[in-house]
Amino acid sequence: MIAHRLGMVPLVSHRLNELLPRHECGCEGLLCPLCSVELSLDVTCQTARKDVTSRDILSVDGTTQPVLQNPEDQGVLIAVLTRGQRLSLRMKAAKGTGREHAKWVPCTPSKWHYEETPSCPDDPTTVMLSLELNGTASGENILSCACSILREKLSKIHSNIG
Ligand SMILES: [Zn+2]
Repeated sequence: MIAHRLGMVPLVSHRLNELLPRHECGCEGLLCPLCSVELSLDVTCQTARKDVTSRDILSVDGTTQPVLQNPEDQGVLIAVLTRGQRLSLRMKAAKGTGREHAKWVPCTPSKWHYEETPSCPDDPTTVMLSLELNGTASGENILSCACSILREKLSKIHSNIG
């Protein structure tokens, strides 16, 4: 139960673009430093009750944090401890895609529509795109990555045609 909750905590990392996808890394799924970041959690309850939340997750190298919507956000509840109990663990996080698991989807399904822009006669239509983000990446980063992936796939199709 605790591992499942930890696996669903949204994270934001400064190393996101440099981390290799697990299936492309030479460690064959062992989650080495090239394809994963290391996190820790160590909470002891010294009162009647202690909520362990995603706020208690610490990045070993300081590059990755749980997503918080604002400074007052209490984080995702992971476990509840009673007096004298302790939860201590180290974990590794890897990046993935929404195709592998929904936990890696950085935004909800988007909507888009065309909007006429009569003030610009050379390009009379503007595409309006809306994304609802979960905080793990910026809209610009998500759109840029999606365009890169699409460009790579179209390039493979193009090279197989000729
Ligand atoms: Zn690796």
